[in-house]
Amino acid sequence: MKIKSLTTYTVPPRWLFLRIETDDGVVGWGEPVLEGRAASVAAAVEELSDYLIGQDPNQIEDLWTVMYRSGFYRGGGIHMSALAGIDQALWDIKGKALGVPAYELLGGRVRDRIKIYSWIGGDRPSETAKAAREVVDRGFTAVKMNGTEELQYLDSWEKVDQSLANVAAVRDAVGPNIGIGVDFHGRVHKPMAKVLLRELEPFRLMFVEEPVLSEHVDGFVDVLRQSPIPIALGERLYSRWDFKSVLASGAVDIIQPDPSHCGGLTESRKIANMAEAYDVALALHCPLGPIALATCLQIDAGCYNATIQEQSLGIHYNTSNDLLDYLVDPSVFTYADGQVRIPTGPGLGIEVNEEYVVERAAEGHRWRNPVWRHQDGSFAEW
Ligand SMILES: [Mg+2]
Repeated sequence: MKIKSLTTYTVPPRWLFLRIETDDGVVGWGEPVLEGRAASVAAAVEELSDYLIGQDPNQIEDLWTVMYRSGFYRGGGIHMSALAGIDQALWDIKGKALGVPAYELLGGRVRDRIKIYSWIGGDRPSETAKAAREVVDRGFTAVKMNGTEELQYLDSWEKVDQSLANVAAVRDAVGPNIGIGVDFHGRVHKPMAKVLLRELEPFRLMFVEEPVLSEHVDGFVDVLRQSPIPIALGERLYSRWDFKSVLASGAVDIIQPDPSHCGGLTESRKIANMAEAYDVALALHCPLGPIALATCLQIDAGCYNATIQEQSLGIHYNTSNDLLDYLVDPSVFTYADGQVRIPTGPGLGIEVNEEYVVERAAEGHRWRNPVWRHQDGSFAEW
């Protein structure tokens, strides 16, 4: 079997799908995307295809190694997202060719379902508590919200109080037994992160995510280690080598690699295994589409430390299309009791509706982050 073609599709709301076909007619799908940089990742996939055409798709480890190491320069969001989507499609091909799900090829599964959480907003707090109640009524047992609006290096106690009131309203709305994750979203700088982490202690949070950006963890280790709130981060780290110092710091309790940003199933699984050695939990990042989620679930199936899974159904970014739109059989992601079952079909376990992908790719997207500003006119992290 040889790789014959790689085709990318830019599809709404903000995704990029990759279709790899072999000379045997086996088709695998991947989702190589960095949100807001879809065209750049598509170009990187196209560049990597020079080597891939004509290669045996079964030699995933070797292809990964060549794609990672052979360009001399390596790493970062664009390269590792391109590699991620290609890797996902290769696992899909291999599983389909052998008639088994990818997790079977990786030693089988340690669970047949995993807890999921739903995003409830929080950028603009007024509706957050109501959204929390609604998703709990739909069966979710965990939610995630943004912790603050724009926040300056040194901001006011009024802003801190607003943030606390927002979290308190959500806790009030859902009761004591629902998990609440609070995402600082890289919006909070060290001086205020210190304050907020302490003030949020009474709310019995499931975790605080990106309390500071990953690149600032080294200067913040003491605070993070001492916080009684579990600390999560990792969506902006792209490889084993990026995670190495974060894990060794002892500052992080939950890592959140994104299998569409950090080298696919192959690399994310290795990162998860590294984390297990530090007694750190895995909560794969996935505000993306169905192929990314399917990949996550193949990893969750076999990683003992996988603890909860992000998913994007109804997330506020999905305005034009949602998670299930591109699937032949959307029931593969049926949620029950706050959990999702690991799909057991061959490859990544889903069937992509190719006709619909082609139709929506004709429209495409130019999704970009909003650009926020502080009251003094300076740029504010979103
Ligand atoms: Mg986040």
